[in-house]
Amino acid sequence: MEKRVLGKSRTEMSLLGFGCMRLPCDAKGKIDEREAFTLFNMALAAGVDVFDTAYTYHDGQSEIVLGKWLKSIDRTKVRVATKSPVWLITSKEDFFTYLQKQLQNLQVTYIDDYLLHALDQDRFEKLKELGVFEAMSQAKEVGLIKRVGFSFHDEFDVFESILTYHPWDFCQIQLNYMDTHYQAGLRGLHLAESLGIPVRIMEPIKGGSLARLPAELRSILNEHHPHWSTASFALRWVASFWNVETVLSGMSTRIQVLDNLKTFTNFVVMDEAENKMILEIAEKMRERIKVPCTGCRYCMPCPYGIDIPVNFSYYNDSYIYDNLEQGKDRYLNWMDSAERASACVRCGECIPKCPQHILIPDRLVEVADRFKEDSQ
Ligand code: SF4
Ligand code: SF4
Repeated sequence: MEKRVLGKSRTEMSLLGFGCMRLPCDAKGKIDEREAFTLFNMALAAGVDVFDTAYTYHDGQSEIVLGKWLKSIDRTKVRVATKSPVWLITSKEDFFTYLQKQLQNLQVTYIDDYLLHALDQDRFEKLKELGVFEAMSQAKEVGLIKRVGFSFHDEFDVFESILTYHPWDFCQIQLNYMDTHYQAGLRGLHLAESLGIPVRIMEPIKGGSLARLPAELRSILNEHHPHWSTASFALRWVASFWNVETVLSGMSTRIQVLDNLKTFTNFVVMDEAENKMILEIAEKMRERIKVPCTGCRYCMPCPYGIDIPVNFSYYNDSYIYDNLEQGKDRYLNWMDSAERASACVRCGECIPKCPQHILIPDRLVEVADRFKEDSQ
């Protein structure tokens, strides 16, 4: 198993981390503990020592299941990472209350890597006002937390403000070869590197999308190496940046675990030719984009409640990844009917606000048509 030693803490850890947000579940949606333990044990036996969860994963069950497993092994052999549910915190004391609950859930006396979960501008400002940063430092001083970090979902400028505000041990960003300019992006990775702060990567396979490339693009990778999975290329692409301490993969099946272990055991950094191939594939995928929406949200809010950029994002993804079913599922099940393209009344208020000059109501008609219940 490839290991890295980075940052001021100089702590060695596995380059592959087990993300516990997509654990195997039974038909009722409850975590299948036996199977989850099997996956954890497979990973641990191969040298994975970073296990990453959060207070809210699997409706609070992820920490509890991970805690039961930790009791069955030598806890000192793994790094336990979890995240403070900052949106539930309304006082400095709340920070400690949730931390205590999480220590109980995980059945541990300390947490190796504790993150403020999903920081954005508003949450950052609120936590500063509440004194949560001081609380976090106190928890570290008394040994309840070994290293502090944050996971992030906002624009680059906000990332820069947060990264330079506190003496972080690490940070966690979304990065994959399709999202190089999304949120913190590559700029964020390089900024962290310049500050000596190691980075953890989430969504390296873009929620599984980069494991299911359109056939014509998959064949390019197969020609390059017939025995490597499409997911392995996505993982190697992010893991080849040297300031990445761990790449988190939310593993649900034994096949996924085995495939990831293969990628990170005898790990090979991507060479220039492979990097060029991956960037060409990304470019080919971008050529499939139907609506040039950048997700800037200048058109929002729509007075009728339509979530314009999310509609366009699902629509574009359904072409980029050649996956109509996934797009329809997200459109019909992840969005309220009032947010969907089909609820647009064509008032036209959004049109002058769009810097990309997208004729939003016309394009929303296309979205609604592609995702209507009986479309194929
Ligand atoms: S045209 Fe449609 S999406 Fe645009 S503001 Fe009006 S209702 Fe909302
Ligand atoms: S303003 Fe235009 S580019 Fe920006 S999110 Fe709205 S539709 Fe997309």
